[in-house]
Amino acid sequence: MRDFVLERPRSISEVLDTLQRHGNKAMVKSGGTDVIVWLHKSIKEPDYIVDLTAVEQLKGIVVNEDNVEVKALVTLNEVIGDDSLNRYFPALVQACKAHSDPLIRNRATVVGNVCAAVPSGDMIAPLVCYDAKVEITGPNGSRKVPVSEFITGPKRTSLGTDEIVTGIRIALPAVETSGCYLKAIRREALDIAQAAVCCTLFKGDNREFRIAFCAVSARPLRATEAEKLLNSCSNIDDEVIDQAAELAADAVDPITDVRASREYRVEMIAELTRRAISRCLERPAGEGVHK
Ligand SMILES: Cc1cc2nc3c(=O)[nH]c(=O)nc-3n(C[C@H](O)[C@H](O)[C@H](O)COP(=O)(O)OP(=O)(O)OC[C@H]3O[C@@H](n4cnc5c(N)ncnc54)[C@H](O)[C@@H]3O)c2cc1C
Repeated sequence: MRDFVLERPRSISEVLDTLQRHGNKAMVKSGGTDVIVWLHKSIKEPDYIVDLTAVEQLKGIVVNEDNVEVKALVTLNEVIGDDSLNRYFPALVQACKAHSDPLIRNRATVVGNVCAAVPSGDMIAPLVCYDAKVEITGPNGSRKVPVSEFITGPKRTSLGTDEIVTGIRIALPAVETSGCYLKAIRREALDIAQAAVCCTLFKGDNREFRIAFCAVSARPLRATEAEKLLNSCSNIDDEVIDQAAELAADAVDPITDVRASREYRVEMIAELTRRAISRCLERPAGEGVHK
C-alpha cells in the first residue's frame, strides 16, 4: 500500500476546501469498507484521503414533513434500527440486512454504497424503486440528482472531484406500501449478490408496482415492461406474475463472472421477481403508510 496523507476536516466547507486544494489526488472516505480494501490492494493510490467521519453535519436520519433525509455518514445498522425507515421503506431495510455482516454494517454507509457505484451494490435497487435523490454539494452550491441518473456506469458517477454527497432524500409515501428485496448469494453471509430484485408496491387508487435489479446491468435498471403489465392488471394471479417475471428476465443484460454465469443470473432474476411480487401482495395492509 502506498503512503498517503489523512485529512480530517470538521465541516462541509472544510471538506470542500480540502478537495479544491488536492484536486484529483484526493479520495473521500466514509465508512472505508470499500476504500480501505482498494488501498490495501493498490487498486486506488490517492495522495490524500479525506475522511468525512468528523463532520457532524453529515450524521443522522431526519424525518421531515414529506421526506426523509439519510445523511452521508448514516450506516446500514442505523437504517436497520430506525423505526421510520422500517415503516416507510421496508425494502431498503431488507437490503441493508442482506448486506455483508453486522460488523461491516456498523461501518458501511448507504451513501458510500451508492458512490462506489458497483453494479452489485445492495442499496441501489431499493433507492431506485423509492425514487431517491442524491444530494450533492460543491464549490458552486448544491444539486439533487435521482440515484438512477447519478450512477453513470460501473464504478462511475456524475460526481465532480470537488464535490461530495451530503445525503440521500426520499419522499414519504402518501399511500400504503409494501416492499421486498431478495438477493441470490453463494453462501449465507459476507457475499456480494449474484443477482437481486427489489419490488415495491404503492397501493391506493393508482396502484403502482416498481421493480429494479442489482448485479445484472451496468447502470441502475427498472423492469418497465413488467411494471406496465402489473400496473394495468386489476387481478394479479399466478399467470400474470409468471408473465411479469419473464418480462423482467428479458430486461436484464448480465455478464458472466466469478460469481455466476449470465444464464444463471437471468434465471435467478425471473425467480426472484416472481417471489418478490408475491411477497409484496401478501404484506398486511398498513405497512409503510405515511399518514
Ligand atoms: C467484507 C466486505 C463485505 C461486503 N459486502 C457487501 C455486500 O454484501 N453488498 C454490497 O453492496 N457491498 C458490500 N461490500 C462493499 C462495501 O461495504 C459497500 O459498498 C459500502 O456500503 C460502502 O460504504 P462505505 O461508507 O464503507 O464507503 P467508503 O469505502 O468510505 O467509500 C466508497 C466509495 O464512495 C465514495 N464516497 C463515500 N462517501 C462519499 C461521500 N459522502 N461523497 C462522495 N463520495 C463518497 C468513496 O470515495 C469511495 O469511492 C462489502 C465490503 C467488504 C469489505
